[in-house]
Amino acid sequence: MKLFSYKRDGVSMPGVLRGGDVIDLRQLDADMPSDITAFLAAGPAAMERVAGLLSKYDGPVARVEDCELAPVVPRPGKILCLGLNYVEHAKEGGMPIPKDPVVFLRTTTSLLGPGQPCRVSPLSEQLDFEAELAIVIGSRARGVLREAALSHVAGYSVFNDLTYRDFQFRGPQWTMGKNFDGTGAFGPCLVTADELPAGADGLRITTRINGELVQNGNTSDMIFKVPEVIEILSSVMTLEPGDVIITGTPAGVGAGRKPPLWLKAGDVCEVEIECIGKITTHMVAA
Ligand code: MG
Repeated sequence: MKLFSYKRDGVSMPGVLRGGDVIDLRQLDADMPSDITAFLAAGPAAMERVAGLLSKYDGPVARVEDCELAPVVPRPGKILCLGLNYVEHAKEGGMPIPKDPVVFLRTTTSLLGPGQPCRVSPLSEQLDFEAELAIVIGSRARGVLREAALSHVAGYSVFNDLTYRDFQFRGPQWTMGKNFDGTGAFGPCLVTADELPAGADGLRITTRINGELVQNGNTSDMIFKVPEVIEILSSVMTLEPGDVIITGTPAGVGAGRKPPLWLKAGDVCEVEIECIGKITTHMVAA
């Protein structure tokens, strides 16, 4: 299944895609949660119920292109991010290949929905792009070994970890450069794990700027893959339904180019992962 969050009367609601139609979960069953995190927490039984109702549904629908989409999980409990998780990306940044994952956090206010513009900050001229696979957690995970880790994944989505490079490296912590408002483009949908290869492995991941291919990687090149990431993170903290883990970016970012390629107002940045989808972000002046 493909799940969305979309805005209705200013509130983010969960919907499911059938063809090009979005159907509100509560149109299928009035008792369904009005929040995607609560739906994910309801587990496989709720997913199966939606799948069953969806096949028989003949009520009103909305076209996906007419919907204002929100970040797939609008307010995750936490957004954990891996840095330098592709060898060639670590090399292009002149950074050592990590022996342990480099982990930082994003705030919920940094998220951006599909189709929402990124307002380029006047504080920096170094706005960079990073195509990433996003893991969405479906059930509580604490001390989970890699062999069992994938059972805690609800599904996968696409993330553009838009980064102000100068702010990222102003100090030893990357937090400021990674948390400007509206810089974490997240969507367009969550594809449930049953519809993808185990661990979303072997999927092509790309970025295009104004139509030109600038990142062209594959999730199989991640240093720490999805099961290991969940094992390591859940060894120290509880992962909860709706938590999001973004898994690092392949080579080709703007900072790694000579001369560097920074995003500016007017640019269009598209991040796409095979079998999951594409998130498009227009850069606009603040
Ligand atoms: Mg990143």
